[in-house]
Amino acid sequence: MKKNGTPGCDPERLSAYADGEIARAERRAQEAHLRSCAACRALLAEFKSLGAQIRRMPSAKAPKGLKESLRRLAGTKASRPAGRRGRRSGR
Ligand SMILES: [Zn+2]
Repeated sequence: MKKNGTPGCDPERLSAYADGEIARAERRAQEAHLRSCAACRALLAEFKSLGAQIRRMPSAKAPKGLKESLRRLAGTKASRPAGRRGRRSGR
């Protein structure tokens, strides 16, 4: 059930890649994919900046929570409406 048009797009793997959590062989595959996929490059940049922001927030210290947030972002990204908010609403 992938919404991305390019075969090989894998937001979850990309999130793991941003966290430096995937095996070397997969990294290479991901890097090769990134070279040909602007969408994933943009998403990777977003993961990285978002990860840095979250790490600075004292309330979200747990790495597990961070990963959940990133995966959720990856999942919502495709159908996300235009216009973004700086801060999360609710809770
Ligand atoms: Zn891609």
